[in-house]
Amino acid sequence: MFKKILIANRGEIACRIARTARKMGIKTVAVYSDADKYGRHVKACDEAIYIGPSPAAESYLVMEKLLSACRQTGADAVHPGYGFLSERTQFAQALADEGIAFIGPNAPVVKLMGDKILANRAAKEAGVPTVPGHWDQIPSAEDCVAIAQGIGFPIMMKAAAGGGGKGIRIARDEAELKDAFRLATSEARSAFGDDRVFIEKFIEQPRHIEIQVLGDKHGNVIHLDERECSIQRRHQKVIEEAPSPFLDGATRREMGMRAVGLAKACGYDSAGTVEFIVDQRRNFFFLEMNTRLQVEHSVTEFTHNIDLVEWMIRIAAGEELTIRQEDVQPHGWSVEARVYAEDPNRKFMPSTGRLVRYREPVESEDVRIDSGVYEGGEISMFYDPMISKVTTWGRDRDSAIALMRRALDEFYINGVHHNIAFLTALMANPRFLQGRLSTAFIAEEYPDGFAPALLEPQDLDSIVAVSVLMHLRYLHRAKDVSGQMPGYGRKLPPGWVAMIAKKYYPVLVEEHAGRGSEEGFDIVRDGHTLSIRSDWVVGEPVLRCTINGQPHSFKVERVGIGYRLYHLGAEVDVIVYTKEVAELAKMMPERKPPDMSKYLVSPMPGLLQSLAVEPGERVDSGDELAIVQAMKMENILRAAQAGKVCKLHAKAGDTLSVGQIILEFE
Ligand code: ADP
Ligand code: ADP
Ligand code: MG
Repeated sequence: MFKKILIANRGEIACRIARTARKMGIKTVAVYSDADKYGRHVKACDEAIYIGPSPAAESYLVMEKLLSACRQTGADAVHPGYGFLSERTQFAQALADEGIAFIGPNAPVVKLMGDKILANRAAKEAGVPTVPGHWDQIPSAEDCVAIAQGIGFPIMMKAAAGGGGKGIRIARDEAELKDAFRLATSEARSAFGDDRVFIEKFIEQPRHIEIQVLGDKHGNVIHLDERECSIQRRHQKVIEEAPSPFLDGATRREMGMRAVGLAKACGYDSAGTVEFIVDQRRNFFFLEMNTRLQVEHSVTEFTHNIDLVEWMIRIAAGEELTIRQEDVQPHGWSVEARVYAEDPNRKFMPSTGRLVRYREPVESEDVRIDSGVYEGGEISMFYDPMISKVTTWGRDRDSAIALMRRALDEFYINGVHHNIAFLTALMANPRFLQGRLSTAFIAEEYPDGFAPALLEPQDLDSIVAVSVLMHLRYLHRAKDVSGQMPGYGRKLPPGWVAMIAKKYYPVLVEEHAGRGSEEGFDIVRDGHTLSIRSDWVVGEPVLRCTINGQPHSFKVERVGIGYRLYHLGAEVDVIVYTKEVAELAKMMPERKPPDMSKYLVSPMPGLLQSLAVEPGERVDSGDELAIVQAMKMENILRAAQAGKVCKLHAKAGDTLSVGQIILEFE
């Protein structure tokens, strides 16, 4: 067995690999860039080697630096995690040349599957159904149109070297196809250093279902059933689960058998994933094979009671698989939710910033948290915006989902935009609960993005009660500190008004003496009484209470003179006034946001890659104005209406913050 493993990655996956290595008694080496000097993965390993500046291209992607870190520390094996160098043949080969084990499959199979054009051909040869397409490089936009007409619209354009949802575009007609060709080509060039693109038929209303395989160096290959990953945005997964609520036994067996057949045919010898796109009639087609550990491997670990990283390590060390296909027996249901730093209300644009406050839900036998961040740490634009993964297990789908809802309600993040409220709302979405999924689910269910704050009447009661309790605790706290409650003298009046979304909810409040969690208020609203009890103290981000005896959890924040509450996917801003002040507040003129229609502003932090217009130029609605590159995605910004450009406020190559003005119209 290996003595020391170098983990050529960062964040949650580096921490996760370190955990298994420690369990196996193997020493670990972390590598880190400037941005990750205080990273959690650095603390999770026994040693750490600095490998350069923050951009991945100058640190985590530089093979020579990783090889030299191995030499320096005497590591005898490298686990690449996912992303970065995990699917680079040259890396696997360079390690092999130095006699260092690569904890992943052999270099030739990494090479084969890393090229989607070759991979599709290999799949077809191995008898796996493939999507009708053109598996060859397409030289120009004109050729592309001709080929697409042969296949039939809509089509999907992909980068041969693609991964992580990058370089993928759908085109429904010729005009879209020409744009798609240009964008996919340039995105592929900048993300993968390889601008070859190809096209295939776009499968309508598809579901993404993948098979986990495990092979060893002795010719044994098994599969560990499927994961469904249909809940995606930007062709990237957000929610995954095992098993799939869609598959029947026969399709499951057939898919497993085809995946194993492909793995055997190409000499696969590690953990890997064969991804399929499945249509509404349960026809399945090969998408790609990921020759690495997958982000969502945790759901399979729950349902199959297995440590996939441990098996990757054992197999790389030459051990033989001891699990036979007949022994593979899934139990229960597991769901994973990816917590991303992004804004669900602005097209899921990545967000950057400091994790000012960060509280994870409590882990248990059925709740697993994988993360590589820490309170006070930064989500930078250099790496993937994933903050954490929450995975739950239950006897059936409903219990796994219910557990997930509760875990997400206790996950508190402040400082960056994040998708926790969105994830919680997904876990309560009726169509999701019915398992009627497709990769278009998010786009169809949330066409205008996701803005939390839809209130059910009984929720409204609890939100009013919680915000009144918080407000009165704030005032009491001020009294404890300074001997008085600013503006109220020594005694609080009974009448209060909670303002939510410009509506006013008056209440009468009576204090209920008690100790700890028995302390609280009896609040009369609209003729009924809400008895709220809580031991919450000012400053705590999670408020647990009972309202009329029922337990509730809320995440809470002080925002200006009011409060922001997060609960079951709702996010609500509340201000609590006295009756008198509420009357005045109602008369205050509403502050209008400034008119920004004269400006083109950057919708996300990123790099201004190019400007398509000059001062004095007239544009029509829909014309390209600029391209902003963020987290390896190229985003075209178009004119919302016709107009004349009068001034440029930024130039190509500038780093933009969100909301920064790029140019101005007359
Ligand atoms: P998939 O690659 O099918 O999206 P995962 O969700 O497991 O599967 O992807 C893991 C992560 O690794 C992605 O979110 C992405 O950030 C990263 N990744 C995968 N492939 C690449 C690649 N070729 N280049 C850069 N990043 C990648
Ligand atoms: P990546 O390497 O970036 O993960 P994939 O080929 O796995 O690329 O595709 C990513 C996602 O794009 C899939 O999960 C699916 O949602 C969508 N997709 C890919 N190919 C097709 C297709 N032919 N028809 C419909 N959707 C597709
Ligand atoms: Mg994929």
